[in-house]
Amino acid sequence: MTQPNNTGVPLAAPRREAVIDLDAFRHNVRTLSELAKPAETMLAVKADAYGHGMLPLARAALESGATSLAVLDIPAALALREAGITAPIFAWMHDPDALFREAADADIDLGISAVWQLDAIAASGASRAPRVHLKVDTGLSRNGATEADWPQLVQSAIDYDAQGVLTLHAAWSHLADASPEDDEIALARLHKAVAVAEGLGARFALLHLAASSAGIRMPEARLGLVRFGIAAYGISPFDDRSARDLGLRPVMTLRAPVVSVKRVPHDHGISYGYTYRTDGESTLALVPLGYADGIPRIASGTGEVQLRGRRYPIAGRIAMDQFVIDVGDDAVEVGDEVVVFGTGDEGEPTAEDWAGYADTIGDEIVARVGARVTRVYRGE
Ligand SMILES: *Cc1c(COP(=O)(O)O)cnc(C)c1O
Repeated sequence: MTQPNNTGVPLAAPRREAVIDLDAFRHNVRTLSELAKPAETMLAVKADAYGHGMLPLARAALESGATSLAVLDIPAALALREAGITAPIFAWMHDPDALFREAADADIDLGISAVWQLDAIAASGASRAPRVHLKVDTGLSRNGATEADWPQLVQSAIDYDAQGVLTLHAAWSHLADASPEDDEIALARLHKAVAVAEGLGARFALLHLAASSAGIRMPEARLGLVRFGIAAYGISPFDDRSARDLGLRPVMTLRAPVVSVKRVPHDHGISYGYTYRTDGESTLALVPLGYADGIPRIASGTGEVQLRGRRYPIAGRIAMDQFVIDVGDDAVEVGDEVVVFGTGDEGEPTAEDWAGYADTIGDEIVARVGARVTRVYRGE
């Protein structure tokens, strides 16, 4: 099936495609959820499922071992409910205008970091009491209550729970992945915060901390539930182990057709700034993907793509909408498929390779694939 991505941008020509292998994704979710057991698996489908498309990936996750879903905010959670998903959905990023009433009425689990959020739930006029997961800051320093603010947050939640405004359900945090030692310290901080809360009379049905990295390598951090994200998309959370090493399969293949072929002389400057010059008479192929589609401009000069089974470096600067490859004397025709990244099984680069070209992480490579790229689903 082909569908426009859910940003509402119409299908764009030329045909740029991100092929999403749902069977690979299901394999990854099954592998990870088996590994995590007896902990449950919550699958992170935030940021449009890391660029893969939220709805199809959410459904595939729930078919293959995940028992709940994580999104960033309430509107994404409501979109999943409107699409008919009945599994628990967790959302944790709220601003003062957050739709707490709609969230509570739609039975969305809420990650809560501050008393003002509890007050807003109480004032929202919701018809049912949402389950809240109180977040402790165990070192990442994003949201979550500090050690100093934690007792007041817990006490407020206990009070609202007693009034029937909400159900105090879980305590949780998120790791900094700075080092195994730092993650152990964070786990100890979570346990300490739970003890403090229990001292105040709180009872938690669930504790959760780990995302992909700790979910794979730190069994003691799995607790009641692991919030897996990037590993399920077939990208390793580790620098020193690939997805393949972990038995995981890349899910996204990014490709586009060659739209121009030309023969040029020796010492011919290519693309903005002429940062690349041919070193003999040569054939150039133009590929209609650029930084507006998520191809990182910093990978000009390092990035490689695959054409007719061979790898070619990108020649010169990556532009907004296009880049050039220099194929020398090799054959190429307009319409030939260029694979930017894929599974790696046929020798093409992976998103992990692109993370290396661009000095970033694979998460950023897939999450930034842009709105003009049509998502095409395999294995529905
Ligand atoms: C993104 C995110 C996850 C998933 O993280 P991965 O490293 O992609 O597995 C889990 N929990 C929270 C709070 C997140 O923001």
